Amino acid sequence: MTNSKAMTEAGWNLDNSYARLPESFFTTLDLNPVRAPKLIILNKPLAASLGLNDEALQTTEGAELFAGNQIPEGSLPLAQAYAGHQFGHFNMLGDGRALLIGEQITPKGERFDIQLKGSGRTPYSRGGDGRAALGPMLREYIISEAMHALGIPTTRSLAVVTTGETILRETAQPGAIMTRVADSHLRVGTFQYAAEWGTVDDLQALADYTIKRHFPELESDENRYLSLFQEVIKRQAALIAKWQLVGFIHGVMNTDNMALSGETIDYGPCAFMDTYDPETVFSSIDRQGRYAYGNQPNIAGWNLARFVETLLPLLHDNQEQAVEVAQETISDFPDLYRSNWLTGMRNKLGLFNEEPEDETLIEGLLKLMQKYRADYTNTFRALTFDKLEDTVLFGKDEFEQWHELWQARLARQQEPKASSHELMRNSNPAVIPRNHRVEEALEAAEKDGDYEVMERLLDALSSPYAHSPEQVKYTTLPEASARPYRTFCGT
Ligand code: AMP
Ligand code: MG
Repeated sequence: MTNSKAMTEAGWNLDNSYARLPESFFTTLDLNPVRAPKLIILNKPLAASLGLNDEALQTTEGAELFAGNQIPEGSLPLAQAYAGHQFGHFNMLGDGRALLIGEQITPKGERFDIQLKGSGRTPYSRGGDGRAALGPMLREYIISEAMHALGIPTTRSLAVVTTGETILRETAQPGAIMTRVADSHLRVGTFQYAAEWGTVDDLQALADYTIKRHFPELESDENRYLSLFQEVIKRQAALIAKWQLVGFIHGVMNTDNMALSGETIDYGPCAFMDTYDPETVFSSIDRQGRYAYGNQPNIAGWNLARFVETLLPLLHDNQEQAVEVAQETISDFPDLYRSNWLTGMRNKLGLFNEEPEDETLIEGLLKLMQKYRADYTNTFRALTFDKLEDTVLFGKDEFEQWHELWQARLARQQEPKASSHELMRNSNPAVIPRNHRVEEALEAAEKDGDYEVMERLLDALSSPYAHSPEQVKYTTLPEASARPYRTFCGT
């Protein structure tokens, strides 16, 4: 532990409530130091909101801390146990390359997990080396920060350090560690672990902890575990709708990668869709398209079913009745998702009120985008700024007919055109982290140690609804390529 001046001034205010759960939920660990930590990027606004002093973190001690070579006062480093269905198959997992160093209590009294990802082997590492490569850690940094700026609940990235060590993947790569900030790391898989290997008391302790941490208003509910499930459903319905609305494809929606807080977690092979196509899959390992764009709402429902299965012993003394109540509750998910999505789509089209035909209108546009291979984000931008000539749909009769229907629909609402335009501006991003731009930034960082390309990209992504002239560069599509874009887990 360090008591140096820089560390005292850094503003750490850590608690370790997770360590007060039954012992089987985690393993406390010694540090696993790396050779030569170097700070690559620090998220200063995030540091400030956590009550941390960025100057104190930009010191040698700061880099040592983000590398897991030292720990701040009050830290009790631990790896969490969890299980999960990976591509439908149940496995024991756990933090195989991550360390929770504690929960930072912010000046406003909020609580955030501070986790080092890539911090070395743990009892849950199985065959892995516990380490992470620079490219995937910067990728998570970029995309999670872009998601945050888009207004989508997500874990965030506080810092990335290089370790001065080389790690072996398909090729030798520079090692790195990312500091992840999360509402918590409670996952569907944490409950699966408790249900499979714990006692009912363990399960109840976990459920009570989750309620206390994320849904304290439910504590006095008559059946608080059912209320917990209902709230988790609501948050997932809202989250997945937001993903769909911006064209985000998570890529690996295993149950261990679904956070109960309702945040997006675990940025592996994720990517944003360019051309609108519900079958879009980027991940090299998703050969069946299980986690394709259009399948994400179904998979969220599937994961929620796995979640409620774990809660059955807590829902009712009579297990048949527990199953009945679980089924009834989960059947709300599709409608809840759909209504979140519809609200978001209405916003994207500048609609303030509701009409029964809206769904047909929206689906009509999506069908045209799919048929003519239109870029999803840029089509909505073209509609927002009435620059129809910017889309490949321009000049197509079907599109003109659709456009007339839409204009007539806009004219039937009270709000003036200017208000619709404003709503659309704020609902249709100018920039998303397009794959070729992300790759360009990572290549400069990995090959040349040049982080400026990434800094400029992060800057453009930090205010996606600004529609500023500087952002235009980031709206262009990649050059046509013979091969489809592929992402890798990078583990
Ligand atoms: P993910 O695909 O990141 O959700 O990881 C799935 C599981 O594999 C988790 O239990 C991770 O901790 C573990 N894992 C991923 N990469 C490594 C690694 N390099 N070393 C050890 N465990 C890993
Ligand atoms: Mg994971």
